[in-house]
Amino acid sequence: MSEPADGGGGGGEGARAPATVAVLMPLPLERTYDYAVPTDLAPAIAPGAFVRVPLGRVERVGVVWGAGEGDVDPTRLKPVTAVLDVPPMTEPLRRLVDWTADYTLTNRGSVLRMAMSVPGALEPASVRTAYRLGSGEAPRMTDARERVVALLREGPPRTATEIARDARVSAGVVRGLVSLGAIEAVTMREVASFDRPDTSRTGPILSQAQGAAAEALRQAVAAQAFSVTVLDGVTGSGKTEVYFEAISAALDQGHQVLVMLPEIALSAQWLARFRARFGADPAVWHSELGTRQRRETWRAVAEGRAQVVVGARSALWLPFRTLGLILVDEEHDAAFKQEDGVIYHARDMAVVRARFEVCPIVLVSATPSLETVINVENGRYGRERLPDRHGGAQLPAIETVDLRETPPARGTWLAPALRAALVETLDAGEQALLFLNRRGYAPLTLCRACGHRFHCPNCSAWLVEHRFAGTLDCHHCGFQRAQPEACPACEAEGSFAACGPGVERLAEEVDEAFPGARWAVLTSDTVRGPSQVQDLVDAIVAHEVDVLIGTQMVAKGHHFPQLTLVGVVDADLGLAGGDMRAAERTYQLLHQVGGRAGRGGRPGRVVLQTYAAEHPVITALAAGDRDSFMEKEAAAREAHGLPPFGRLVAVIASGPSESDTLRAASALARIARADEKTLGIQVLGPAPAPLKLLRGRHRFRLLFKAPRGVLLQPHMRRWLAALDRRTRARLQVDIDPHSFM
Ligand code: ADP
Ligand code: ZN
Repeated sequence: MSEPADGGGGGGEGARAPATVAVLMPLPLERTYDYAVPTDLAPAIAPGAFVRVPLGRVERVGVVWGAGEGDVDPTRLKPVTAVLDVPPMTEPLRRLVDWTADYTLTNRGSVLRMAMSVPGALEPASVRTAYRLGSGEAPRMTDARERVVALLREGPPRTATEIARDARVSAGVVRGLVSLGAIEAVTMREVASFDRPDTSRTGPILSQAQGAAAEALRQAVAAQAFSVTVLDGVTGSGKTEVYFEAISAALDQGHQVLVMLPEIALSAQWLARFRARFGADPAVWHSELGTRQRRETWRAVAEGRAQVVVGARSALWLPFRTLGLILVDEEHDAAFKQEDGVIYHARDMAVVRARFEVCPIVLVSATPSLETVINVENGRYGRERLPDRHGGAQLPAIETVDLRETPPARGTWLAPALRAALVETLDAGEQALLFLNRRGYAPLTLCRACGHRFHCPNCSAWLVEHRFAGTLDCHHCGFQRAQPEACPACEAEGSFAACGPGVERLAEEVDEAFPGARWAVLTSDTVRGPSQVQDLVDAIVAHEVDVLIGTQMVAKGHHFPQLTLVGVVDADLGLAGGDMRAAERTYQLLHQVGGRAGRGGRPGRVVLQTYAAEHPVITALAAGDRDSFMEKEAAAREAHGLPPFGRLVAVIASGPSESDTLRAASALARIARADEKTLGIQVLGPAPAPLKLLRGRHRFRLLFKAPRGVLLQPHMRRWLAALDRRTRARLQVDIDPHSFM
């Protein structure tokens, strides 16, 4: 990612309203449209105003992006119909829309749509009639009337229904008091209230290292300037406690705070800690919010009533009024990269937003991404380190089990050393976690009689058996079918063989090997939605589960004080394939999973099962030597000109016809190759994507590689424009790609 240019977006914010305005619509359109400003609306129209305008035969809501472009005779322009009663979109957010569109090669309207994702929030809030005490007096006060008057003297205005209920009177009594003027009607906008975090409460007494880090963050907040600080601390070092201090400081300044977490559904423990620290709930923002909650939260953020928002990547697009601090927790997490629609990296765009908002941003991780590490080394980002776990807790000891020497018994997946560790842990009354990043029962199911495998009809992928549910599922498109009794190819019955383990199969092994041990499986299939995750997390904390078996969902954020053993069933799983980040990601993920062990009083241990004990990732994990591992990663990437030392852009061509798709991809490659020498870039492909069929579309990939000094976007725009308009394939541009599927 490169620096945002100054002065983009916005448009002239002159004191005098222009006679015409340019309006950007949340539709897949790059351009703005000019509208005339009727004199009665002129005072309310300024850049950022949400306006209703005619477009074709319908009316649309858009945002005033600046003065009219002037490409149409003003007398022929249609007028703005209405200005909505919503705080205007701020200049920093408008700049972020422009900047993201420009950087990711997306049209501006599609980016704007992310910032207007809640159409209902733009409409006036529903109003209701409530009653308060009036100046009139009822000549004859009955008991019932007394109760109503007492109720309204003490409390806020209430609706007639509420008064009748709370004062235990009939509707007639309320009507009577109204007609006497003893109580009077007021209209109230229905607004959800968001608790104010209480910053006068104090957090725990910080250790010296924690105190120094907290002080540095407080100073960054006090400076009210753009800065990036990496809070780099081992798991359990108190990073959360430290950044709570920064939140407190920003709130004391009267600013809003955005906290981005990779997987909001998993943040129940985070929310509980926030509540314990600030005596209030933050506003939450994620895809599973109900319509009403979305509307109210969006509005409360826009009006500045919600002070702290914790959310997934889409929270980046919320209409903060006065953002004073952004935190990105687990900044290395791949979940911050949005892979469909507008393809963007929410951590990177959060840095851009902080720059436009002129506020500090803090990137938090125990295993910062290589991009971030390099930005620290070259001095662009500051860094605060927390080298030790809080309270003298030790980092877990890491043991490697070489499966070539001591394999598990046939048909099982836990080697003798891991089984022994499990026995010891369970005997000591402690908890264990078995980590395997594979959902379902087995990655592959085949017929023993004829070798038939179940293939997804829409994707180039095998179906995965989910035995708990009795289905075969595609993990790419969601296709699902019942597990048949007989092989569809040879009609043999009971001939299916499962190959390899998934978490469900591990559960079966635990159940057989450790009778009486209470196990639970935590994956996106078995636990759906925040409340189910919360229930399971509560059960684990209450020690109602002895062995937790899970995918990467268990890796993140959880704090289980009685969990002392982590078994990584297949440490090599993420290393296969040609992804340039495979080693880095594996390190981050396994370090994070291992970090779940021994967070309470008792020491933890981690057992890594591997067929590649000498792989640098495994040896670095075992030695706890992150920094030299990252140095070697950096050297390898630099040698190959890969990010962050060079730039990559991927283009995925897809379409229903394989030949048309390949033709489009080849045409783009040909156009770009003409510039290879002059620009010093490299065009690779087209090649069939590893997932060469996805949701019924054929896919080919192109990769463009450039030195760091060459920004590829302008050239890419030119190449795409030179492409024949009749090209029958969709071309998706992925700047700084993270997925190579
Ligand atoms: P991290 O975010 O680095 O993994 P946490 O902030 O979750 O670490 O801290 C780990 C545990 O230690 C939490 O239960 C936290 O409340 C506790 N803790 C951290 N620092 C302190 C402190 N100074 N005093 C008391 N408890 C602390
Ligand atoms: Zn599929």
